Amino acid sequence: MLNIPRPTPTCTRFQTTIEMPCMKCGEHMRLVLIEPQDSCFNLLTYRCGACASDESFLKAI
Ligand SMILES: [Zn+2]
Repeated sequence: MLNIPRPTPTCTRFQTTIEMPCMKCGEHMRLVLIEPQDSCFNLLTYRCGACASDESFLKAI
């Protein structure tokens, strides 16, 4: 019987649906902030734990 490895749940308070790789070092970034911009978009801020850089993305609600 095979033991299929399951993805480790991210320990954040948010439900992350997208795994963001860091643009600088390639590590996984963690969703740290969600800010509503208007009625159609949220601004999602991700932070890299390895190099501490932040990236923000607009995401349609
Ligand atoms: Zn990084």
